[in-house]
Order: sequence, then structure tokens, then C-alpha cells
Amino acid sequence: MKEKDYLDHLVGVFGHPAAENPGVVIQEAAFRALGLKNWRFLTIDVDQGKLGEAVAGLKAMKFRGINCTIPHKIEVLKYIDIIAPSAKLIGAVNTIINDDGVLTGENTDGQGFMIALKSAGIAPQGKNVVVLGAGGAARAICVELALAGARHLTVVNIPRDMALGESLIRILKENTTVAVGYVPWVDAFRIPSGTNILVNATSIGLYPNVNDKPNIDYDTITQDMYVQDVIPNPAFTPFLREADKRGVRWQSGMQMLINQAALNITMWTGLKPDKDVMIKAFKKALA
Ligand code: NDP
Repeated sequence: MKEKDYLDHLVGVFGHPAAENPGVVIQEAAFRALGLKNWRFLTIDVDQGKLGEAVAGLKAMKFRGINCTIPHKIEVLKYIDIIAPSAKLIGAVNTIINDDGVLTGENTDGQGFMIALKSAGIAPQGKNVVVLGAGGAARAICVELALAGARHLTVVNIPRDMALGESLIRILKENTTVAVGYVPWVDAFRIPSGTNILVNATSIGLYPNVNDKPNIDYDTITQDMYVQDVIPNPAFTPFLREADKRGVRWQSGMQMLINQAALNITMWTGLKPDKDVMIKAFKKALA
């Protein structure tokens, strides 16, 4: 008789709030397609101040790994044994792998962005890049671009938190060879000529604010540029509509999201999930 195995293999996400995180839909669709019947992705609301206890629980219950999202991506660093080099520079971890109680922290947001670039046929080496925003996603993207050999990065951020933009610039200058510039975002930003890649790494346009778009002079987008949004929902933002109107190549944040989720699955299971299955599940969840 075949031996029974009812043991669950646990992964999931720690967030606060957590209810709207679509990770479970994407990840469990991938697990089913891979035939991983006992793998479960749990969406877990962890209050601020309770992260240490949650991480202890994760170890006690032998979770294979966990994603961390707002507000835990930075605080979780203090509970991790090994931090991947890019995650260390970014200063945030969104994925933890648990190897028999030894926790490794990765940041797959920027890696997911880089895979999206590659799939669009864009090589970052020698490119001039404009990144709108200086928050978590912007940091991850800038660090990965710099490590991959981008030539120049311009970080555009509203001056309400100059320290955020300036600390990112300092990290890039001290740890990579990329040339960097910081522009306080006051008026409609004009994309400098010679820009190869334009990235919206702000939260502008994210559901429910689906009509919002970054304050830039869209007529400064030229046809030779490549435009990338980080917003996964909706997939076709007003920012991308403006890019599309001007005939440039663009990609939505949905690909980046699916890429990072696929990386997480590979880190946890050693298997390569079917991204089409994941995209289909994500779109169904949004419908
Ligand atoms: P943060 O809050 O850390 O950063 C948001 C950035 O956007 C900040 O620099 C913020 O500036 C700026 N910003 C917000 N509103 C405005 C505005 N009206 N005008 C100018 N700048 C503005 O968030 P994250 O970086 O973690 O996330 C940003 C977006 O990226 C989210 O929508 C998230 O869903 C998405 N994301 C997508 C991923 C994917 O895989 N597709 C992965 C990770 C994130 P300030 O600090 O001054 O407010």
C-alpha cells in the first residue's frame, strides 16, 4: 500500500494589512500546476511589533519560507542569519528561505524587474535610466540596475522625504560604479534626452486610484525609450497609456510581480513554475 503523506509544506506572506495580498492565488495555482499537492501558501496578518514572535513561529512550524511585505520588509533583517548581497544593499528583504532553522533573506522585487527587462529584450548595461520614486521598489530596482552595469541612474522623488532619495544615492555611490543624479520632483518632470529606460517605481496609479498618473511631461517620452511600470493592478495604468500613445515599448508591473513570485517558488521548492498559469490566476483574481 502506498504510504500516506498528509504533512503540509508551508510558505506564505507576513504583512499588515495582509488581506488584499494576491500571493496565495498566484502561488497556489503554480503549486497545483507543478503537482505539489501538500504545499500551502498562507496569508498572515502580523502586527507591527510582533514580527519576532512570527519569525520564531515560522521556525517552530518548519515553514519552508515566507514573503514579507509592508510594513515588515526592513524590520525582518534583524531576524535573518544570511542576507543576500543585493538585499543587504537594498536594505530590505521580501523573501526568506528556511533551511532547517537557518534563515536566508533575499529581495526578489528587483530581480523580478530585471527578468521583466530581459524578457522585453532590454539589456541594462550602459543604459541611462530614470526612476520615479525612492521607496522600497525604487531601491530594489536601482540596486539591481546598478549591479547589472547601468551607466546612469536619475532618481526623481518628491522633496517631502529628501532623506529617502539621498540615502539611496549614497548607497549606489558607495557600492556600485553607476553614475547617479537626484532630482527633487516639484513640477512636471521632463525626461532628459538620451534616456533609454523610464521606470515608474511610485505607487501612483495603484488600485483604487486607477486614474492617477505621475506628474511628468509625457511629450518628453521619445520612441527610442523603454517604459516600465511597477504597478501590478491595474496592469494598464494611465502612465502606460501615455507611453503606449507615443508608440514606445512598455511593460506592466504584472510581469514583475509574476517574475518575483516565480523566483520565490524556485527558491523554496527548487522547481520552475509555469508563469502563464500564474498570470491567468492573477487576472482571474482581479476580474
Ligand atoms: P513605498 O511607499 O516604499 O514607495 C512609494 C514611492 O512613491 C515613494 O518614493 C513615494 O514618495 C512615491 N510617491 C507616492 N505617491 C506619490 C506622488 N503622488 N507623487 C510623487 N511620488 C509619490 O512603496 P513601494 O516602493 O514598496 O511600492 C511602490 C509601488 O510598487 C506599489 O504600488 C507596489 O504595489 C509596487 N510594487 C510592485 C512590485 C511588483 O512586483 N510589480 C513589487 C514591489 C512593489 P514619498 O515617500 O515621498 O511618499
